[in-house]
Amino acid sequence: MFDIAKKKAFVCDLDGTLFMGPNPIKPAVDFVIESTNSGRFKFFYLTNNTSKCPEEYMKKIAGAAIPVTPAQILTPLITLESYIREKGYRSVYLIASEKVKAHMAERLADTEVSLDYDPEANELIALTYDRELTYDKLAKATSLWNMRNVPPNAMCPIRTANQEPVDFVATHPDMCCPSERGPIPDIGGMMKFLELTNGMKPSHVFGKPSPTLLAPVLDEFRPEEIAVVGDRLYTDKAIADNAGVDFVCVLSGETTPEDLAKYKGTPPAIVVDTFDLVAASGR
Ligand SMILES: [Mg+2]
Repeated sequence: MFDIAKKKAFVCDLDGTLFMGPNPIKPAVDFVIESTNSGRFKFFYLTNNTSKCPEEYMKKIAGAAIPVTPAQILTPLITLESYIREKGYRSVYLIASEKVKAHMAERLADTEVSLDYDPEANELIALTYDRELTYDKLAKATSLWNMRNVPPNAMCPIRTANQEPVDFVATHPDMCCPSERGPIPDIGGMMKFLELTNGMKPSHVFGKPSPTLLAPVLDEFRPEEIAVVGDRLYTDKAIADNAGVDFVCVLSGETTPEDLAKYKGTPPAIVVDTFDLVAASGR
């Protein structure tokens, strides 16, 4: 039973929940603005899209007049940063747009980690949703894997002096990215491209539905004080389920009442037409 009185923080999906493409979903956005200003709830904003820097999401959210700080934006780039720090990696081949690479270099400025391709030194291949992806970047990733992770054979005769296996992670699992022109390729196809070449598969895939993305929220609040709000059952509800927190399903985006009727999993904690209507659930 969903109890709004117990909630202190909402983790909000953006597209389909607070925005429809570039346009704010007004009642939902007004509810977030009022509750932020009154201090009733704290909000976090969740995105899997690693082709953009958190600053760009801040702009979008602030553009709808919602007060927001960088710490409220949850993107798998934060998980990637923590992963690099925890593992103590010094040399990472980061496959990312120039902008995202500069952002990561800034976040890791206090470490000595290099984010460039270096076949002798790279300890990790980190794949993001790189909208500046080239054949050369994919070929470098597979050749690194061949040189370190595949025993020498007729297909992969070359080894580097560095015999340590190279780790490989991807920031999120999405197969496609919605656009005004319908679905366009996201990181999923890039992972498939690599896997089909030489069998390489990531050791970790961050982002929804992996609960690692909620770590900063779970550090601050108890699970029963949190709810994830979103319009997709297979990503937004999945991350809520994986983190053991309530899921608020909004019907302002992808999921329809027919989808919910067919859904085989545990039902969402609450279903509302638009996010603002959760406020009325306690009355
Ligand atoms: Mg959505």
